[in-house]
Amino acid sequence: MSIEKLERLFVFLNSQPQKKLHVNWHGGEPLLAGKDFFNKIVELEKLYPDKLWSNVVQTNAILIDSGWAKFFSKNHFHVGVSVDGSEKIHNHDRVGATGKGTYQKVMRGVNMLRSYGIHPGTICTVTKKSVGFGKEMFLGLVNAGFKSIAFNAFHNTASESIGDLYGLSDKEWLTFLIEIFEEWVTLNDPTVRVRELDSMLAWIKSKSANCRVYRGTCHQWFAVDDIGDIYPCERLGKEIYFGNIDSIKTVEGLSTNPVYLKWKDSIVILHPKCQSCNLQSLCHNGCVSHRKSDNGDAPLYVYCESRLGFYNYLQSKLTETEKEKGHE
Ligand code: SF4
Ligand code: SF4
Repeated sequence: MSIEKLERLFVFLNSQPQKKLHVNWHGGEPLLAGKDFFNKIVELEKLYPDKLWSNVVQTNAILIDSGWAKFFSKNHFHVGVSVDGSEKIHNHDRVGATGKGTYQKVMRGVNMLRSYGIHPGTICTVTKKSVGFGKEMFLGLVNAGFKSIAFNAFHNTASESIGDLYGLSDKEWLTFLIEIFEEWVTLNDPTVRVRELDSMLAWIKSKSANCRVYRGTCHQWFAVDDIGDIYPCERLGKEIYFGNIDSIKTVEGLSTNPVYLKWKDSIVILHPKCQSCNLQSLCHNGCVSHRKSDNGDAPLYVYCESRLGFYNYLQSKLTETEKEKGHE
């Protein structure tokens, strides 16, 4: 993104009426934009002091040196690092230009961040190839010192041929989640938090979602690419296009845009199965990019059965624990 576009982007963001703005700098690899670009971000945020800016950068950490670590620490950026579990599993699919696995380089960057007091969370992608290695992946991340872990089920939306090789089935995802829960219980370390477990446990306890992924708020997010084109979310690809920040100059302009309004209405249509589901207020029919329509029905979350199955599994585990306590 050019500096001129970045400046335009901040004019656009500043038009948002709400005070708190959460900006996620995502790539490809966002650090390729360079330190001057990120310094400009901070400079522009200072031009709009009425806003409360919260910045997240999702990186593979390979480029992180002391300069980056110092910058993120000084400017209070949250950092998320993509690590796919253990060194062996990560290196299987995440390779550099020479074909060599990147795990060591990633961990060098992570350790640099830690030396500046930043403890990045990690997002671990689970594919059909890695799903059978739940324990190894979980313990790999724990042993590498990660305390905040999120697992993303890989569901290919762009190409069925890649999806066949990597996309997880509903059943595989459920088996994986249960395995991770059991390993987490065995670990017995409350400082290690796994998003998928945390959010379901919090919901069972308080009936409210503690994580925005589960709040059904896709319409409050939008993605802006390097040339200023605005889309609903990078996970949804570029099929639904709202316009460019040069023509849609304000967030109000976006919220009255007919394509946006049509999309917003379409994502809240519930599949008949969701209408009577007791997980509706946690799940909201799942991530919009992970929905599929069969037989002309409204689209349904592809991991619906694993969400229901995991909920039932946790409920029965909690009931068992309560009973055991009662017998003590
Ligand atoms: S668990 Fe399934 S039925 Fe329930 S809200 Fe989610 S997608 Fe719909
Ligand atoms: S489509 Fe999925 S990833 Fe994108 S904002 Fe909605 S829930 Fe989040």
